[in-house]
Amino acid sequence: MSPESVLEYPVGAPPAGGETLEIAPGVHWARMPLPFALDHINLWLLEDEVGGEPAWTLVDCGIGDDVTRGLWESIFAMRIAGRPVTRLVVTHHHPDHAGLASWLIERTGAELWMSQAEYFAAHAMRDGSSGFAFDRVVAMFERNGLAGERLALMQQRRSNYRNRVPAFPSDYRRLMDGDVLRVGGRAWKVIMGYGHAPEHAALYCEDAGVLISGDMVLPRISTNVSVWANEPEGNPLALFLNSLTRYAALPAATLTLPSHGLPFRGLRERIAQLKEHHRQRLDELHEVCDAPKTAADVLDTLFRRKLDTHQLFFAMGEAMAHLHLLERGGRLKRSVGGDGVVRYAQA
Ligand SMILES: [Zn+2]
Repeated sequence: MSPESVLEYPVGAPPAGGETLEIAPGVHWARMPLPFALDHINLWLLEDEVGGEPAWTLVDCGIGDDVTRGLWESIFAMRIAGRPVTRLVVTHHHPDHAGLASWLIERTGAELWMSQAEYFAAHAMRDGSSGFAFDRVVAMFERNGLAGERLALMQQRRSNYRNRVPAFPSDYRRLMDGDVLRVGGRAWKVIMGYGHAPEHAALYCEDAGVLISGDMVLPRISTNVSVWANEPEGNPLALFLNSLTRYAALPAATLTLPSHGLPFRGLRERIAQLKEHHRQRLDELHEVCDAPKTAADVLDTLFRRKLDTHQLFFAMGEAMAHLHLLERGGRLKRSVGGDGVVRYAQA
């Protein structure tokens, strides 16, 4: 069954660039373009107040380019309309979410609010430190079977993070799981999620019946869940699936505001679909590992389309994430050949 058939989309089209649409009382939706196959990100403006006067809290930024800055200027002129912006909440460090954090803070005087792991990940990504340097990724992929032309493609790839996040603030306010932000008299509870990014903050408002899910729950595509070179033995798919269970506990009528795609109702149904999607992928991988396979060997099983370099990067991380979960669950066992390459076979 396609996602469309069980999810309900209250609004059929996004707001135009530089405009906003009030998707729930006091919750305004803006959309920014992205220069990827995934060509847009949704941002949220929450009506807030400071000292009894109207103000704004913003959620996520868009990428750090002139197009996005220009669209923000339209939003400042029309919707923000001179009211103070007190807070900028960044759900996680990925460039489409964090790109303009520095610029928005300088532009508005807002405070940056985010989780600690995401704050440091943004700085480490910009610096290529803490195991985020791209040569570490290439070495990890090579150890996991990437070779020949595909390896050569990966060796040519460079991190673009610094171009897309041209600056990043030097201080922040820390968000922790279960924290409650008061925005315009309403409580928004922080629900941390794991597996997509180190410590991703989603925001849930019971009063409004709204979940700002960030990248943790998306309506049409499945969230990228990858092993990263600074945590090469990580089991992010287990973390991600456990995190989904937390959102599934929210009321069935919750309106979910995702970072990509359209706002939707049917959170529990969507989570059930995502869990089923991964269960099927895990079963397929288990089946093809009737003889020892590397992560690179199983790419064609997981992704039945030709992958460009950008997609290959995410596909390798995803393949490793699935293999790690199967291994930790005892369904696959790992061996390292004389070539130093890691292979997995049915236990
Ligand atoms: Zn993300």
